Amino acid sequence: MELQLTNIGVIKELFSRHGFSFTKSLGQNFLINPSVCPKIAEFGGCAENVCALEIGTGIGVLTRELAKRCDKVVAVEIDEGLRPILEETLEGLDNVEVIFADVMQTDLAAVLEEKFGGKETVVCANLPYYITSPVIMRVLESRLPVKAMTVMVQKEAADRLCAAPATRECGAISYAVNYYSVPKLLFKVNRGSFMPAPNVDSAVVRLDIRTEKMLPENEEQALFRIIRAGFSQRRKQLANPLSAEFNMPKTQIAEILQTANIKPSARAEELSLEDYFSLARIFCDK
Ligand code: SAM
Repeated sequence: MELQLTNIGVIKELFSRHGFSFTKSLGQNFLINPSVCPKIAEFGGCAENVCALEIGTGIGVLTRELAKRCDKVVAVEIDEGLRPILEETLEGLDNVEVIFADVMQTDLAAVLEEKFGGKETVVCANLPYYITSPVIMRVLESRLPVKAMTVMVQKEAADRLCAAPATRECGAISYAVNYYSVPKLLFKVNRGSFMPAPNVDSAVVRLDIRTEKMLPENEEQALFRIIRAGFSQRRKQLANPLSAEFNMPKTQIAEILQTANIKPSARAEELSLEDYFSLARIFCDK
């Protein structure tokens, strides 16, 4: 009979037999709602000829759902204490490999190349909340050859990731996410779906990665420099942080804004992605 990894009794028994206890600082909130992992795998694009990269296995509840549907699964998990549990819960699944490492220190491009060798790949994960944005940005910025990234994050983070540029809800990360991908909020997951239950609800987001690079390298660098500077003082008029960041007098910044057809009083959150493209182009020409 298949192991019921969302059953609290089964989880507690595994923990006590292997002497495992949660490490809160690693964002260890494990899924106990049986309907969620199959949905992440399905919506995430898992299929027979597709490979999956998972970040953070926990006891392998999502890993198993990915393994059922995909050609091959590679998962990166930081906590060595989960090794004996995973040896048991993933036993017999010969298309799964767990790498015990910190995802932030792992050369994911090299891992994908070595393990999947160019096959179509998706990323699926219930992300540890303390590094949600850094992990997402690492995958996006390193331009991993992945088709989509489907991740569970805190509800507020999901709203921010999926917020359209130039709306009140958007942040610097909304622009980055929209630059590299097309984001979509898939479904909400309430806090009672986890053990231990966190203080906030979660949501699953899918980012369909853009294959075309939208700007040349130098303009891309300028783009993110401008966005970061703008959002570091989002309540202020954009001209102020830009003047400080680029060490230019405000009059010169005002001219640049005018050339880009942006009103001089604009704040960072009022600009469209295309407005930022124009600014990046002008700054690169200077
Ligand atoms: N996938 C499991 C589930 O849904 O029940 C576990 C999800 S839990 C929210 C996050 C997992 O990420 C934990 O197993 C934790 O140990 C792992 N983790 C935390 N920080 C990590 C890091 N820097 N690199 C790799 N894994 C990490």
